[in-house]
Amino acid sequence: MPLKVLIIGAGVCGPAFATMLRRSDPEHNITVLERHPGIRHNGLQIDLRAWGVPIMKRLGLLDIASKRCVHENGIAIVDSKGRKHAEFGVNKSHTGQQSFTSEFEIMRGDLVEVLYEASLKDPKTGVSGEAENEDAPGIRYKFSTWPTALTQDEKGVHVTLSDGTTKRYDLVIGADGQWSRTRRLIFGEEEGLKMFKRLNVYAAYYTVPREPEDDDIARFYHVGGGRGIAMRSGDRPETQVYLMARTNSEEVQRAVERQPVETQKAVFEKLYEGAGWQWERFRKGLRESTDFYADSLGQVKAPHIVKGRVALLGDAASCASPVTGMGTTVSLIGSWVLAGELARHKGDVPTALEAYDANVRPYIDEAQKLMLGVPWVMTIDSNWGVFLIRLLLSFFSFIKLDKILFAILPEDKGGIKIPEYPETNM
Ligand SMILES: Cc1cc2nc3c(=O)[nH]c(=O)nc-3n(C[C@H](O)[C@H](O)[C@H](O)COP(=O)(O)OP(=O)(O)OC[C@H]3O[C@@H](n4cnc5c(N)ncnc54)[C@H](O)[C@@H]3O)c2cc1C
Repeated sequence: MPLKVLIIGAGVCGPAFATMLRRSDPEHNITVLERHPGIRHNGLQIDLRAWGVPIMKRLGLLDIASKRCVHENGIAIVDSKGRKHAEFGVNKSHTGQQSFTSEFEIMRGDLVEVLYEASLKDPKTGVSGEAENEDAPGIRYKFSTWPTALTQDEKGVHVTLSDGTTKRYDLVIGADGQWSRTRRLIFGEEEGLKMFKRLNVYAAYYTVPREPEDDDIARFYHVGGGRGIAMRSGDRPETQVYLMARTNSEEVQRAVERQPVETQKAVFEKLYEGAGWQWERFRKGLRESTDFYADSLGQVKAPHIVKGRVALLGDAASCASPVTGMGTTVSLIGSWVLAGELARHKGDVPTALEAYDANVRPYIDEAQKLMLGVPWVMTIDSNWGVFLIRLLLSFFSFIKLDKILFAILPEDKGGIKIPEYPETNM
């Protein structure tokens, strides 16, 4: 039965879910809201791992995304003089576990664009997915628009939008990121916010002009004092800078979570004062950058991700945090399971959402597992700690531990495969 669906958020999983929903039933009427005036291209490299890879393949988008992937040849651990202490490669065998650098590293903006374009036009068949008007089947995007209120009864959800209009939907999906307003609207402001569990680590992402000596091996530098800096160039025309700082400072938390970009930049500049290595270059780049993005790292732990006819998806439901490398992958498996359960239970939205809540849980739990020592190993405090971690990583690199792990660990996280939903025709 065709449904009238509202998706809030056009990041990674908003367009991905819209595409899956439309492919499973072209008669669905799907509206995607995005708070920003257009698709947001900010963000640096994100990974497709485990279940994310077969899902992109089933959507016919893996080859298209692969062409836009960043080709990186591994990661090296460096000191303040830029000397390498350890180096780990990439698993290019298409089998076994992905390494520290995934084989499918892609700029967030590129992935969002691939998914957005595919939602409006199937790249394989050329069939348009775009709705012709408000009441027609298909997908339409509304930019600079967000929900201000949601109320629901047994048959549908009433949504008031920022433009003052009110509409009724059979189903509402909150795909609006780690701070999800939808989550706060359905579970209450305080409860919804509390579900985001901070790691007390703050990350900044931006690019600087590439220099001739920047190669395709990423670098990670332990600064000490709870700070780390990574730099990645791959085969891109610019060099990406990642700052990661662990601190209990309320000033930093307030700035990163609530204040304008210029204040965030000033806070990171202060945190990294005297950091060494290439900091002077990166400080200049920080001041001049136009693509700077910063956020608080954490995980969303929600006991349920469904309430009546409203469901949460992606970071809104289950943010795994960039330190797991699983955020994009878990948002894709969530979209896959949600589209699958809706197709399986046809018009019975509440039953489909309950099944989604239960069946996506093992994937969320697996994706949210933090590797031993993470995020501490990236944000070490003392000089002794930095010395020891370099020694340990240099030993792992010497015995080629990464290659042993590629060979023995399964490709699917925890050995779980993607579930099959023949009803979706994907
Ligand atoms: C600008 C940006 C940059 C990022 N950069 C990185 C990065 O460099 N590395 C990394 O690992 N992860 C990054 N992430 C997070 C990463 O995209 C997600 O962890 C993952 O891909 C899951 O995506 P998602 O679709 O659930 O959420 P997101 O990609 O966060 O998308 C959520 C979307 O919802 C929109 N939105 C938010 N609130 C509302 C609202 N009230 N109404 C309507 N729309 C709303 C946002 O503008 C955004 O477009 C970034 C996220 C954003 C938004």
